Amino acid sequence: MVAFDDHLETKLVHGAKKQTSQSETGAVNVPIHLSSTFHQKSFDSFGPYDYSRSGNPTRDALEEIIADLEEGTTGLAFASGMAAISAAFMLVSAGDHVLVSKDVYGGTYRLTTELLTRFNIDHTFVDMTNLEETAKAVQPNTKVIYVETPANPLMNITDIEGIVKIAKANNCLTFVDNTFMTPLYQKPLNLGVDIVLHSATKFLSGHSDVVAGLAVTRDKQLGERLKFIQNTLGSILGPQDSWLLIRGIKTLSARLDRSTESAKKITDFLLKQSIVEKVYYPGLESHPGFSIHQRQSTSGGALLSFRLPDRETTKAFVEAIKYPVFAVSLGAVESILSYPATMSHAAMPKEEREARGITDGLLRLSVGLENVDDLIADIKQALQVAVNQHTPETSI
Ligand SMILES: *Cc1c(COP(=O)(O)O)cnc(C)c1O
Repeated sequence: MVAFDDHLETKLVHGAKKQTSQSETGAVNVPIHLSSTFHQKSFDSFGPYDYSRSGNPTRDALEEIIADLEEGTTGLAFASGMAAISAAFMLVSAGDHVLVSKDVYGGTYRLTTELLTRFNIDHTFVDMTNLEETAKAVQPNTKVIYVETPANPLMNITDIEGIVKIAKANNCLTFVDNTFMTPLYQKPLNLGVDIVLHSATKFLSGHSDVVAGLAVTRDKQLGERLKFIQNTLGSILGPQDSWLLIRGIKTLSARLDRSTESAKKITDFLLKQSIVEKVYYPGLESHPGFSIHQRQSTSGGALLSFRLPDRETTKAFVEAIKYPVFAVSLGAVESILSYPATMSHAAMPKEEREARGITDGLLRLSVGLENVDDLIADIKQALQVAVNQHTPETSI
């Protein structure tokens, strides 16, 4: 085959070439195979597909695309990010222990604390920005170290290679949730990670229209074990959503690069505003994880958080802002403004939440594709409203 896929941007567009080049019609897009079952031409041997839970040609195309992008061997598509993450945790057994990043996504927190415990799978939450502390938390029965980097909502950075070293020394697997960076900016499998997980609901699909999850393994045998779990649990992605996700992936670099460019400009703008107490963005030199992030990733990404003085100023800002959608989720064409205190971290007691820096003034912005000058003008006017709410005599 011709080497058409040297760069990731090219791969994103031509990822499904294998499937489409073999099609009889010549259609440039993968067909949506809405079929639960498949004709078997021979009594003695079945074809590549028998039942869509076990395999579907549209889902297969997506699974090959993501495996290729993450440079892994096996890609698997699930009904949601949580379905992918849950399936990966089914690789451990009763009596095992898992080490989980303390900044982990709320759904993963719920899975480890509320469900895995019922199957006698124990866990410890640890600050993974601290490798020493992480190494100390490993137990003889630890089977998985679970990382998110950058982590929500303060964009804390974990040294992936440092974690892999600890995992290898202790004979356990490393899982990385790569939702925020995507394979465009970060490839954990190349750093020795065993399984990469995605909420493809976010940047990969990119249009706030699909809920989907992906998993990719570095090792083929581990991939087969995970595929067995996918087929057994049955939490597969349907063919229509698989198709939408394939389409979203094609424009990933155009979307994410543009959003990232805007995120940098917004970060610079926010840093100059006196009412903004702090800006969290992994592309900032002043960010505590900057040098590690620079080493393992090619970009700061399109997500940032910032802190206003208190709940009242934050409420005034949110009520005044025009363009960003005030909502949970991220990674879409439209900018999305989230309020961690009552959204992602609502279940956490206030003291615990504030101890982690998730105060009543913290906002997270997922930068979309609006004109950046419009976004900055919008943020500026909303900050002015917040300033008036806070101390009427100061101006920005
Ligand atoms: C959204 C998200 C998830 C969960 O994915 P769903 O598709 O909502 O199930 C997991 N990890 C991160 C970092 C997320 O942002």
